Amino acid sequence: MQKPKVCLVGVGHFGKSHLQEWLKLQEHGRVEISALVAETDESESELAAQYSVPVYTSLDAQLLEKIDIVDIVTPAASQLDMIKKCLPHCFVLVEKPLVTSIDELNLLDELLSRYPNKLMLGHNYRFNPVVKILQELVMAREQLPSLVEVTMLNVSAAEVDLNPNLEYVDAFDIMDYLFGLDSTIESSHSVANTHQVSIRYGDSLHCVMNLGWHNKPSKRSIHIVYPDADISCDLFRYSIKISSDNHLETINLSHERTSLRDEMISFLDFVSSQSENLVPPDLATRPLRTALRTTPKKRTNGRPRAAIIGGGVFGTNCALEMNHFCDVSVFERHENLMEEVSFVNQWRHHSGFHYPRSYDTIQEIRSTKNDFEELYNDAVIRDNISYFCPSATGVEIPAERYLAACSSNYLSYSIEYPPAGIVDRDAISVSIKTDEGVYDFYKLRDMIERRLAAAENTNVFVGANIVDAEILPDGRKKLSIERNGEIKTEVFDYLINATYSNRNLLAKWFSFPVEKLRFDLYEMLVVRLPIEQLCVTIIDGPFTSIVGMGHDNLFLVSHIHDSVLKSQVTEDGMPPDWGEIQSNSHNMLLSASKYIPVLKQAEIVESRYATRAVNAFARDFDARPTVIRNHGFDCWSVMGGKIITCVSNAREIATTIERSLRV
Ligand SMILES: Cc1cc2nc3c(=O)[nH]c(=O)nc-3n(C[C@H](O)[C@H](O)[C@H](O)COP(=O)(O)OP(=O)(O)OC[C@H]3O[C@@H](n4cnc5c(N)ncnc54)[C@H](O)[C@@H]3O)c2cc1C
Repeated sequence: MQKPKVCLVGVGHFGKSHLQEWLKLQEHGRVEISALVAETDESESELAAQYSVPVYTSLDAQLLEKIDIVDIVTPAASQLDMIKKCLPHCFVLVEKPLVTSIDELNLLDELLSRYPNKLMLGHNYRFNPVVKILQELVMAREQLPSLVEVTMLNVSAAEVDLNPNLEYVDAFDIMDYLFGLDSTIESSHSVANTHQVSIRYGDSLHCVMNLGWHNKPSKRSIHIVYPDADISCDLFRYSIKISSDNHLETINLSHERTSLRDEMISFLDFVSSQSENLVPPDLATRPLRTALRTTPKKRTNGRPRAAIIGGGVFGTNCALEMNHFCDVSVFERHENLMEEVSFVNQWRHHSGFHYPRSYDTIQEIRSTKNDFEELYNDAVIRDNISYFCPSATGVEIPAERYLAACSSNYLSYSIEYPPAGIVDRDAISVSIKTDEGVYDFYKLRDMIERRLAAAENTNVFVGANIVDAEILPDGRKKLSIERNGEIKTEVFDYLINATYSNRNLLAKWFSFPVEKLRFDLYEMLVVRLPIEQLCVTIIDGPFTSIVGMGHDNLFLVSHIHDSVLKSQVTEDGMPPDWGEIQSNSHNMLLSASKYIPVLKQAEIVESRYATRAVNAFARDFDARPTVIRNHGFDCWSVMGGKIITCVSNAREIATTIERSLRV
């Protein structure tokens, strides 16, 4: 075929882009544009005036006889009929999505087998320069990544009546192009105008897609996570960033949009040679089939079931926020709830005075305070006055900077000192009296336990250790529960990992990417002091403190250096086995009493030990954010930074899940 005759059907927004490219190809002598088919008489006359090409309002057999190629750029609903009409006569290039249901897809498959090598589905992103480079990068690696996140979101404040899976079928096509693997596990849900689709390809490659419309700027991105590297690309900016240990490389490509032209040239090569099927039919239909299969469906099998691993303050509050729309089971390995970090901590009901170097943390405290106090105000002791005193020798947060940080964050205080003999005034530069409270731990736990006991649809299993889990092909999660020496399995729709230091449990079980954590073995000293209840925190320098526990002259003592007995970043992100623990109480008291001399009179009651977990790469050492991770596959992890955020964070998870149930 010398110069194929082209007919373009549909000259709307996308159709015009196609027309521009056909005109360029015509200029280069590759094709002859023989017809345009417009939807209405009005657009017919407009187009006829603008381009010297015959314009029609319908596609009939007479016209098709004169044509070699039909390029269909019309809405999905009309595409299949059009293809049926064209295939007996000519080659067809058609823009996605092409079908709207599995029945239509089966019909398309049948047509493709009857007229092989005649249709190419627009595979725009296969010709996208960024995606092409991405494929080279992926092929060059021996290992598969553990996670790929594909985001295709357009801006829209209004409700959109389209299926994001089909509108953004490119996401499925890109995955097919990059990895060519079959999907083995699929789960999906929708929230407002977006779909979150989770797919496991092959044995271990997880992909989470966010597709649809939101009221933020449009976004097209692909993020590929390998154990030792990260590749992220912005398809709007034509840029790729590759980061691995201590190394960052950026590739910026030309913004000239060539993918459509490349696609058309490739189609023309295919038409003229007729020998090779450049884009075989199953490549057209495979991504469509996955997109249709993973379109979220309305639940038909009753209330969903959620499992929460971890009966600390975060897990229990997640249960209490979720039980009105699902049946919840909380699994706690100890015989009592809240025995780990929810107990072994400083019991501060934070106001923000602790975080002069992390304004984000202060804001998080301020924004979550009301939710917490609405439920647990009675568990907060407020008549324990809390003093904060910048160290006289600290260089990072001198008094002026500290007071400025408090004022900038609207933290109210007065300049007042603790009673004589408690703090060495020469060792501090100023002292402020604040409104910060202290938790009555036992009251807090009692309130939570009462709420759980009264809650419907909620089962709490103590002494229940979750030892393993697996995602089933339908996306549900099967847990292995060890209790009373027996192991049983149970299946759940949603899984929340609220285990704090075991935050990487899901990564371990499901091969999700591991989050690098630094674990500190932390010693908290309980002492008896001959003074009234109060709290004193030395800011900067040793960050040492005494926190009145509300009764029996008991105080919690900690020290920024001497409380940390061991520290380790583990390869698998799981907490280390600390082995035998040796107390450092003597040095703690010695160092702390330089600032708080009353500690020389301390009677040691006990040492409590906790494993503190923080992001291994966090640059902001003061920040203690609560981090919620939505892994996809209806799995979440939460690592609580401060107790005060537990209600708001539980509500955030619950709201997202509940909204996803309203498909
Ligand atoms: C040293 C230190 C001091 C702190 N001081 C304060 C403070 O003063 N004020 C404040 O607000 N916050 C403070 N925090 C932070 C606060 O303690 C935590 O944010 C909060 O307690 C975390 O609660 P959680 O429910 O996530 O974790 P946890 O209370 O640790 O609960 C997790 C639960 O998961 C269970 N679990 C783990 N694995 C499994 C499994 N496989 N199967 C079943 N159960 C499992 C554990 O047994 C545990 O009970 C401090 C933290 C540390 C480390």
